[in-house]
Amino acid sequence: EVAEEANAETVARLRGMFSLPADRLQQIVKQILVDMKKGLEKDGAANIKMLPTHVTRRPSGKEKGTYLALDLGGTNFRVCEIILDGAGGSTMHQSKFVIDEAAKTGDGTALFDFIADCVKAFLGEYHKDQDVEAVKWKLGFTFSFPVDQWTINSGSLLIWTKGFTATNVVGKDVVALLKSAFERKNLNIDVTALVNDTTGTLMSLAYSKPDTYVGVILGTGSNCAYVEKIENVIKYKGPREGVKEMLINMEWGGFDDDMVVIPRNKYDLKLDRESANPGSYTFEQLISGMYLGEIVRLVLVDLVKTGELFSYSAGGSPELRTKYAFETAYMSRIERDYSYQLMETKTILEEHLNIPETTLADRKLVKAICEMVGLRSARLAAAGVAAVVTKINKLGAPGVTVGIDGSLFLLYPHYQNRMRDALREIVGISAENILLEKSQDGSGTGAALIACLAGK
Ligand code: ADP
Repeated sequence: EVAEEANAETVARLRGMFSLPADRLQQIVKQILVDMKKGLEKDGAANIKMLPTHVTRRPSGKEKGTYLALDLGGTNFRVCEIILDGAGGSTMHQSKFVIDEAAKTGDGTALFDFIADCVKAFLGEYHKDQDVEAVKWKLGFTFSFPVDQWTINSGSLLIWTKGFTATNVVGKDVVALLKSAFERKNLNIDVTALVNDTTGTLMSLAYSKPDTYVGVILGTGSNCAYVEKIENVIKYKGPREGVKEMLINMEWGGFDDDMVVIPRNKYDLKLDRESANPGSYTFEQLISGMYLGEIVRLVLVDLVKTGELFSYSAGGSPELRTKYAFETAYMSRIERDYSYQLMETKTILEEHLNIPETTLADRKLVKAICEMVGLRSARLAAAGVAAVVTKINKLGAPGVTVGIDGSLFLLYPHYQNRMRDALREIVGISAENILLEKSQDGSGTGAALIACLAGK
């Protein structure tokens, strides 16, 4: 009884730190719109980079051909081969590789050599009977970091995000780095497109759904791309003749890095301070899969200190005190735990995190914290979507489709409904014109489409 009462106070205090009422979301939308406009005018004018992608048309559905695609920028590295069937459909096969810390944080050459080795292994497996070195392959390179794109297949890395820190890559043309690695491995591959995963996500869904104008990633990181009228892309210096629209990679992860509109609590600030790139991509930190579990962990550690949590297990456990040990996937499992005694939550806390003993009150509190952190993420993502749909004037009928990829959107319980509820709070009845739809495999099919269009 007493424990439950204490909990109620704790929960109320934490709610105050994590909640985002509708009026605050509306302020956020307004600021995103201001930043979008500024970012389109001039480089460096806003926290949101608004990067021109050099992708100037959406697919017609008739694109056809066989392409390789690489996906670097998340938890896994993928190599795929995609066959576009020319009728809005595609087939593919892929291999996933774990990127070890050495490749992520060592020298850039090692990272690109690792990539080339994976491609070689992939071709060796799927094209055993071919002389892979004799074939001229066409490839779309999905590289999901902020890139100053010079052409459809060249551009330099602006900064690393999502825990990558490999040296000698920032400021360099990442396609040139990839090409030299291919040459070192005797691979004859034409890199015809450099792609961001958001752009790929948009294109991949647009192949079969032409009313797709927005692509969103809610995975390891978070970001968005959308279709902008070329006349609004004031800072674009490339050719404009015959060009009506351009996909813009917003890099919305950097929104509010000066921390003026979104309320930040001490846990958010600590997460940022102890991140690989402090002060940078702080919007992403509040939303994406790489960070949500860590925010929850920081709250738990604090509540152990104040005696509000796990008081039977004095001090929690070494696992609980290990950075990034509380996975975002645990939050999914805890939020899906509707058992009377919260037994799944008990398993995670006592078996995965080795906390000797938890009470039901402890577990309820942990679940409530997961809910607050997960809910805030979905509401912020919805604010981003609301801003973009407003910017492109698609709040009215017939509406717009937003293609979304990433584990949070696909796997986190209630995430989609929470986004829809927040959209409804922000834009009212117009929310019915915004269709949030899964768009899986943007970095494969999407990259192949962009590589195909680039070759024309
Ligand atoms: P990518 O790395 O390409 O973005 P994902 O979309 O799978 O790939 O995102 C991976 C992120 O999703 C990781 O940060 C991981 O913590 C998180 N994640 C994995 N499984 C789940 C899950 N079941 N629920 C919520 N988040 C998850």
